[in-house]
Amino acid sequence: MTDHKFDGLLLNAEKPSRYLGSEVNAFHKDTREVSFLLAFPDTYEVGMSHLGLQILYSVLNEIPYAKAERCFAPWPDRESQLRLRKLPLTSLESQTPLINFDIVGFSLQYELSYTNVLNMLELGGIPLARAERKDNHPLIIAGGPCCFNPAPLAGFIDAFVIGEGEEIVSEIVAVLRTGKKKKIPRHDLLEQLAQISGIYVPAVHGKNQLIKKRIVADLNLWSHPINPVVPLMQTVHDRIILEIARGCTRGCRFCQAGMIWRPYRERNASLLMQMAEKLLSVTGHDEISLLSLSSGDYSCLEFLIKTLMKQHYSKRVALALPSLRVESLTGILIEEIKKTRKTSFTLAPEAGTDKMRRIINKGNTAEDLISIVDKVFAAAWKSIKLYFMLGLPYETQEDLEGIIELNHQVLKAARKRGQVTISLSTFVPKPHTPFQWEKQISLEETYIKQDFFRRRAKDRNLKLKWHDAKMSLLEGMFSRGDERLGELLEKAFRKGCRFDGWTELLRFELWQEAMDELGINPEEYLRERETNENLPWDNIDCGVSRQFLLQERKKSAETTATEDCRFANCQNCGVCDFSTIKNIFAKAEETQEIAPSPPTADFAAHEKVYRFTFNKLGRARFLSHLELSTALIRALRRSSISLVYSIGFHPHPKISFATATPVGMESREEYMDITALEYPADLNLLKSEINSALPQGIEVIEIKTIPPDTKPLSQTLYAFIYELYLPANIDENQLNIIKESIEKFLASASFKIQRISKGKTVIKEIRPFVQGLTLDANKKRIEATVRHTQEGSARPFDIIVHVLGFSKEEAKQIHFTKIKTLFF
Ligand code: SF4
Repeated sequence: MTDHKFDGLLLNAEKPSRYLGSEVNAFHKDTREVSFLLAFPDTYEVGMSHLGLQILYSVLNEIPYAKAERCFAPWPDRESQLRLRKLPLTSLESQTPLINFDIVGFSLQYELSYTNVLNMLELGGIPLARAERKDNHPLIIAGGPCCFNPAPLAGFIDAFVIGEGEEIVSEIVAVLRTGKKKKIPRHDLLEQLAQISGIYVPAVHGKNQLIKKRIVADLNLWSHPINPVVPLMQTVHDRIILEIARGCTRGCRFCQAGMIWRPYRERNASLLMQMAEKLLSVTGHDEISLLSLSSGDYSCLEFLIKTLMKQHYSKRVALALPSLRVESLTGILIEEIKKTRKTSFTLAPEAGTDKMRRIINKGNTAEDLISIVDKVFAAAWKSIKLYFMLGLPYETQEDLEGIIELNHQVLKAARKRGQVTISLSTFVPKPHTPFQWEKQISLEETYIKQDFFRRRAKDRNLKLKWHDAKMSLLEGMFSRGDERLGELLEKAFRKGCRFDGWTELLRFELWQEAMDELGINPEEYLRERETNENLPWDNIDCGVSRQFLLQERKKSAETTATEDCRFANCQNCGVCDFSTIKNIFAKAEETQEIAPSPPTADFAAHEKVYRFTFNKLGRARFLSHLELSTALIRALRRSSISLVYSIGFHPHPKISFATATPVGMESREEYMDITALEYPADLNLLKSEINSALPQGIEVIEIKTIPPDTKPLSQTLYAFIYELYLPANIDENQLNIIKESIEKFLASASFKIQRISKGKTVIKEIRPFVQGLTLDANKKRIEATVRHTQEGSARPFDIIVHVLGFSKEEAKQIHFTKIKTLFF
């Protein structure tokens, strides 16, 4: 891992590892033919949890003439540093400014990330308005669910990808490649892109041409991502994502995903098992998330879960099913999942009464929920989270009372066995759903409803959580917004709005100011629409017909259910052509019993303790201790050594470290002990295997066995030796001053320093800890030997500031390295 010109910024960043880009499996291609920046308008930890980004990164980097890199929205601390130093926003991998890419493609998952899109464009040196971009500017494209109403961003985005991206991205880069070779002007290039099915180009299509979404007909033909990037920092979903199915035909009338991603397509279980095997081996993750819009619907789920658990139990791989419907959670599933860690249990009844669940076509009953809650707590889960929506069409006070009543029943079923959290969000009508014409309740109405729950839900085992009503208001405006909202968006961005989906960063007063200045009334965007009105997204065809949506809306008023076409007749939604586009189920013959992987016997008699010496150099110095240890554990899990795990519901590998090295410090000698089954081969082979799986900058230097009765590392630790090089421009006079300071320090019996710790001023004695401090004036090198005791130690940073006399800012720029660890 080599140093980079932007590294000076990293020590001032709240989370430096957000910006490192040197993760395991990151691509560093140097092709110059077509460069594609995958831009995610949220933080690294949110973006890296998104499967779509990893899929496109994998697909694009497989194309020999294309390279894909990544960029995430800079957190405000990073943004202010970039602006202060007039530095551009760059990609993670090669630190290339956005303006130098051929294509910048934004993933639009959530309306409240729109201000970050504008911020990233501006910081990347790209004009915000598409009309102002010249031939030398990148093409700005966007994909994701928000593109199903492109109107609010139509002034900023050159081309929208409507639908699924796996196939279409290759077509886009092919057009770019030819366009670049022939030096085709920007507008002509856009005209060529507009020819690709599923692409909406506002400058070419206008508002009258209908754009039909793209669908990947058969997921079995795609197994990306092949080598997913393994984040260095902890992300929102730090695990393997195995997409078991796409689309959903349950037909919940509020759910946009259930309409726009139809039809329902399952992957075969055999392919999923191969993918899981491969993904675990290239990442070292310890959890697999089985992803789909409703994972309990997967037709071979019990078989898949049982087989995955059998095959990967020895490595303590846990399974998560993030989107379970209440009625699909069987006792067998619970039993299988609980074999390893108990992952969080979340269920979404959405409404409080059976009547309301019929209106929204959710289909499950209070009885279903109560029986599942009972099973979940009986299986020793300690908490459960339930999602509900407020302000659904036809909602009455009785439905709100129903949520309270239902939760009392849930608490009763829980019988003080655990915590119940209810999360309440405001219903936001979404385009392309049967409820797209409905009214969204105002801020005031939301507050009244929230207040009702505050007064009524008082049980101490019941925890209430709200989705911020102001965020729902903005989400509602932009979901069904028109092109005029582009003006509002830019104004709010200019006023300083960023990360509007983050409670701590939302500045709603600035949005209100912007609305007032433009004369925009939010109620105008939240109101009920007439069915004969033109809607801003009428030019987008998601496959589900308007007639079907109207019919579903009528049925909701009549409290009539619509059956799921997977288990009943086709309901004529309009998506399928029944030739290539149709519902696809995993093949039944896939479900034969598969032999478990040979068990790795956890016999204590075969256990050994191995001592690892490793280093942490270059940009790896910006990793925190947790990030460093996670990277090491993942590399160990990818290797052929069999780790020994702790017992209990949260099994952890038995690993201990000598100490934590601070962020920013390089180290040539770190130690960790691991317990594992006796390794049958040459430990040097194991070393090479582990080193090839570690991020750049971390390297195992030696592995040796140690006697079982050896004291833990932390108990035998004696001291560290550090070295630092003074700034090259330091003159002789300054060197003499430093020399005198060192002599004075060493001659003293006591040296107290004052520093701020957790907001308080503390006095700290450092002299007894510093056993040696020498200056080599010729090399401008200082070496310090510092004791490490239970009572404390002296930080190199404090020595630089308080003993050598540098300012804190200067000290941050001085590189110091731990060169040796001494033991008793
Ligand atoms: S067209 Fe029929 S079978 Fe296909 S998704 Fe729609 S309702 Fe289901």
